[in-house]
Amino acid sequence: SIQVQNLCKAYGALTVVPDVSFDVHEGEFISLLGPSGCGKTTTLRCIAGLEESSGGVIRIGDKVVSDPARGISVPSHGRDIGMVFQSYAIWPHMTVAENVAFPLRTRNAPKARIAEQVDRALSAVELAHLRDRYPSELSGGQQQRVALARAIVGRPSILLFDEPLSNLDAKLRESTRTEIRRIQKQLNVPSLYVTHDQEEALSMSDRVIVMDKGQIQQIGTPQELYRAPVNRFVADFVGKAS
Ligand code: ATP
Repeated sequence: SIQVQNLCKAYGALTVVPDVSFDVHEGEFISLLGPSGCGKTTTLRCIAGLEESSGGVIRIGDKVVSDPARGISVPSHGRDIGMVFQSYAIWPHMTVAENVAFPLRTRNAPKARIAEQVDRALSAVELAHLRDRYPSELSGGQQQRVALARAIVGRPSILLFDEPLSNLDAKLRESTRTEIRRIQKQLNVPSLYVTHDQEEALSMSDRVIVMDKGQIQQIGTPQELYRAPVNRFVADFVGKAS
């Protein structure tokens, strides 16, 4: 699980996220939805350890990974997470298999185990047949699946997504959504998915966190947000998807 309690993030005098709390339960897929600049990415980056939070407690599983009041800040590589970004961030000079193996190599895992886990991750995203290709020889959707394979190869205890579909065309976005959910269900790993796209969040998620101006407006299932929006902002923002 992911537990975020009273997360606060400021850049100097500018408080971007004043006080945010939510949980992602075992096996759950939650979207963090809101307009550009509302603090979604900042929240995700604090959980990932790519950004130091200014206050509050973040737990991944049973482990406190961030609690500035107690001087706790586990570095990103110690947080047992898999991440997928908008820019696929895969290496152009490495083959598909080498890209996927990369996070395991940096952890000095034994060769046989690396090979086995890479095979498994590539099969999960249905890319085993392209393992020796270079990224420039792949479509955008295939490149994003390489990034997904790399995120899951170390069997992380949580998955974090930051607008992973925004570089794909409309048709690929649809199929990649389904693909992401299929793999997430198969691994049964709690996942947090940042997007500004209402339709995407509502169609993919078990629950959606609607955020505006650094604050959570509502957390609920897609049905709850539709049927019982708590305020005008949620009603208008969620309503745009239909
Ligand atoms: P988008 O979808 O456009 O990425 P977002 O909801 O993810 O938006 P964030 O990227 O979290 O928003 O940014 C929230 C606010 O924090 C914005 O107003 C942004 O300008 C500000 N911000 C982000 N990074 C920094 C930084 N390093 N220094 C100062 N302000 C920052």
